[in-house]
Amino acid sequence: MIKKTKKVVIVGAGPVGCYLGQLLKHQGFEPLLLEEHAEVGRPVQCAGIVGRGLFEELRLPLSQKSIQNIIDGASVSYKEASFILNRPKVAYIIDRAIFDQELSQGLTIEFNTRFEELHPIKEGYIIKTNNGEYYADIVVGADGPNSRIRKSGGLTSDMKLYRGYQYRMKTAPRYPNMVEVDYVKPFSMFTWVIPEGNGFIRVGTISPNPYQELNHFVERYNGAEIIERNAGAIPIGTCQLTRGNLALVGDAACQIKPITSGGIYYGLKAAEFLAEAIKEDNLLLYEKRWREEFEQEIKICLLARNIMENMGEDVLARIFSYVRDNAGLIEKIGDFENHSSIFWSLIGNPRTYPTIGALVMGLIKNPRFLMRSLLRLPK
Ligand SMILES: Cc1cc2nc3c(=O)[nH]c(=O)nc-3n(C[C@H](O)[C@H](O)[C@H](O)COP(=O)(O)OP(=O)(O)OC[C@H]3O[C@@H](n4cnc5c(N)ncnc54)[C@H](O)[C@@H]3O)c2cc1C
Repeated sequence: MIKKTKKVVIVGAGPVGCYLGQLLKHQGFEPLLLEEHAEVGRPVQCAGIVGRGLFEELRLPLSQKSIQNIIDGASVSYKEASFILNRPKVAYIIDRAIFDQELSQGLTIEFNTRFEELHPIKEGYIIKTNNGEYYADIVVGADGPNSRIRKSGGLTSDMKLYRGYQYRMKTAPRYPNMVEVDYVKPFSMFTWVIPEGNGFIRVGTISPNPYQELNHFVERYNGAEIIERNAGAIPIGTCQLTRGNLALVGDAACQIKPITSGGIYYGLKAAEFLAEAIKEDNLLLYEKRWREEFEQEIKICLLARNIMENMGEDVLARIFSYVRDNAGLIEKIGDFENHSSIFWSLIGNPRTYPTIGALVMGLIKNPRFLMRSLLRLPK
């Protein structure tokens, strides 16, 4: 087991870096966090929807102070077609600033400290920042989607960065306890409406032209006041997790659900695997655990996303209708954190075959894309 005197430096005091810090502290380490901003939790770059399981499954209990609303399902639409999914208490809406701040309680964080360069020396690293140099035996990059640690440490990734835009608006939601999901392209690009539970909504989008898409969408709110605007990057893909005594976690490591772009659950679970590996003085255990738990799910969802992004509108409309007709099945077996279970159930149903046939025809029309998709199939 590793000596607790080993110096662990975590770059980035987002939710994942802070949760890792808490786990390490719990294990007897004294981690140091470096954060480029002056405080934890701001600016907010998140819609703040998390599955209920997040508050039930983690190794260290999470404070519930940040919970603002409880979600009982979703209204899902694509063009003129729509359906409702009823899933009582499936998710929570959280205040991300409070969520992150609660996770940071009691940690040692150097604020206004921006990581710039990493220099390996013997067993450890010199970390150069705008605020001086730090030594670390183990460095963790929890520095978000545009991770400088990833680049400086030479870790490889096939990720694609998507852009999300969001407005917080003062207006009553159409559904006080349902999320609205309006697909721009099923099931990859979408606009969301989230009821905060206090007379505010969060309306955001991840789509090819997110800024225009969002402005067009909010026209339906007839000039309701926009209280806050935020934007952020969403890394979709896969990434090398470790190199020597360097590890990436959270958005820095592309630990994001490829279909919904949610990253909090994956990031916090990954932090648990990483804390365990640091305790055992073997970062490869982190890679192993992550692969065992999530690699297959992510690869299947990446493949599905890639196919959907490249399908024509006629095929997408057909797939959407099929999903709508099977909403009851999704209500029953759908899992907020595990989306591939839905594909398997639909694929196992013979009534799906005509829709799969249409999908295959769509793929055959584009052989280069078909080859690329097959190469992405999980091994
Ligand atoms: C518009 C939008 C909506 C989203 N909605 C949801 C949602 O509803 N549910 C969900 O689960 N996920 C959502 N996500 C994704 C979620 O926000 C991320 O997965 C989550 O924040 C990842 O946490 P993290 O700690 O890995 O990274 P981050 O939250 O990005 O934290 C990284 C931290 O590192 C700091 N940092 C960065 N660079 C440096 C540097 N060079 N030096 C020092 N510090 C640095 C940053 O200031 C930041 O504090 C959304 C993302 C976007 C963009």
